[in-house]
Amino acid sequence: MARLTKCSCCGGDVSSRAWFCPSCGHPVSSLEWTDTDKAIAAVLTVIVPGGGHVYKKQFRQAFLWFCGVLLGYALLLVPGLVLHGFCVLSAMKAPE
Ligand SMILES: [Zn+2]
Repeated sequence: MARLTKCSCCGGDVSSRAWFCPSCGHPVSSLEWTDTDKAIAAVLTVIVPGGGHVYKKQFRQAFLWFCGVLLGYALLLVPGLVLHGFCVLSAMKAPE
């Protein structure tokens, strides 16, 4: 259920489900980072490292995580699993 929040940039009313403030265009999607979003990001990341970051539109981090986890798997399975775990935790954090 969307509710109104204040834009952190101009102070105008913005739907918590809006991606951008209708008044000033400031991105506001990070205001509503729900448990559902966390779960989706986590599941995507378990399937493909960086998938949850793509979900958060953090494409640079997604690329870095994808390469880092693959490299970890390539070097040794255990560091890959550990990195993959950190990748899932990173994906669950609220976007900045
Ligand atoms: Zn605004």
